[in-house]
Amino acid sequence: MRYISTRGGAPALGFTDVLLAGLARDGGLYVPETWPRLTADEIRALRGLSYEELAFRIMRPFVGGEVADADLKHMIDGAYATFRHQAVVPLKQLDESLWLMELFHGPTLAFKDVALQLVGRLYDHVLTKRGARVTIIGATSGDTGSAALEACRDRAGIDIFMLHPKGRVSEVQRRQMTTIGSANVFNIAIEGSFDDCQDLVKAMFNDHAFRDRINMSAVNSINWARVMAQVVYYAAAAVALGAPDRRVGFSVPSGNFGNIFAGYVARQMGFDLAALIVGANRNDILARFFTTGRMEITGVEPSLSPSMDIQVSSNLERLLFDLYDRDGARLGEAVTAFRRTGRFAAPEATWGRIEGLFRAVSLDDPGTLRAMGELHRETGELVDPHSAIGIHAAMACRTDRETPIVALATAHPAKFPDAVEKATGIRPGLPGFLADLHERVERMAGLPNDVRAVQDYVLSHRRNDRNS
Ligand SMILES: *Cc1c(COP(=O)(O)O)cnc(C)c1O
Repeated sequence: MRYISTRGGAPALGFTDVLLAGLARDGGLYVPETWPRLTADEIRALRGLSYEELAFRIMRPFVGGEVADADLKHMIDGAYATFRHQAVVPLKQLDESLWLMELFHGPTLAFKDVALQLVGRLYDHVLTKRGARVTIIGATSGDTGSAALEACRDRAGIDIFMLHPKGRVSEVQRRQMTTIGSANVFNIAIEGSFDDCQDLVKAMFNDHAFRDRINMSAVNSINWARVMAQVVYYAAAAVALGAPDRRVGFSVPSGNFGNIFAGYVARQMGFDLAALIVGANRNDILARFFTTGRMEITGVEPSLSPSMDIQVSSNLERLLFDLYDRDGARLGEAVTAFRRTGRFAAPEATWGRIEGLFRAVSLDDPGTLRAMGELHRETGELVDPHSAIGIHAAMACRTDRETPIVALATAHPAKFPDAVEKATGIRPGLPGFLADLHERVERMAGLPNDVRAVQDYVLSHRRNDRNS
């Protein structure tokens, strides 16, 4: 299996190089040169498998023999042993044709754990084989930092530093990061905003001497391996609900388009999926794209579903690559023009293909609270604001009751207790394994919004030189 860049100007690479590279050198994203296909009989043979075994069979063709089968299995088992549910990603029936797939039973209560728990292990495995080490530096507004830290904790080849804006993340979010007592995990509270934190990371990345000295890296949402790991739960849900002998639809609260793009990959692999439904909040650039074929950049407004407060969905480029008939040069021009003008129009000749595959619905904050309240009254379920948008979008797009729709629940309600309480009057409690979160010891540094100060801290705290 070879991977090619969506901009057509970087060398084709194998799986492990793509894993380590993240972004391609021409600024594009890596995608498989061809989609592996499963026959209907091969899909039927997935019935009744454990999540781990199914994950192995779905991901193996993408890894293309670059990780030994036994190692891959071992990492899959380790990744999903961190999930607190026998089924890893359990399906729950909401009504006669609507199902909820809970992707939030991992260590940080968000769906990002599904991919990151595996990717952290793969990354460390490949680094160790190559005798290499990296320093990962990231910035978080609170929501995703803990998933990256949990994925990288205690890994021999990785040191990880996470910057967050001091006093501007919720107490639960901060504690999920600062109570990880691992020697390779470093939290830094910056005197500044989230944008300041991101600018600091960018400045460090652009300081080539510094970047090379620490072998700086990122585990970002454009890494192909994250998409790959997410394909598995689309396959698992489809098979559980009758694939390949029954069509299944999915509804996905979307931000960077990584989650729902994995559904598109499952379809390319031979799963006969009904429309993929994009759920968006008031930042509805994606929803407008799938309704009109056009995108226009406007400002980002904060919402109750912060993980979907996104301007440009980075993984959309992988879908656009197919829309441009995999002509990387043409797509590169279109993307560059989009960055310059803030406007994008899908090519008319191929738009029809995408139009039938995706639906989109957006919901503002009052609508989200209403959806959470209604769902609780009708089913007794408490869901977080992101998941509520997906459920609402599924109901809005449902045309018949014969095709089951799976709404993906991307965060545990206890991650967003204020919104849940406002909508339902009930304050969701943390699950048992996090019940003592507020008593645990916190470890973090406080630093000014100053790149030299952060660089000095990184250089004096990372373990890499000392251990090698
Ligand atoms: C990251 C995230 C999303 C958005 O997923 P994308 O892959 O970026 O589309 C939705 N909900 C929650 C809770 C998230 O953390």
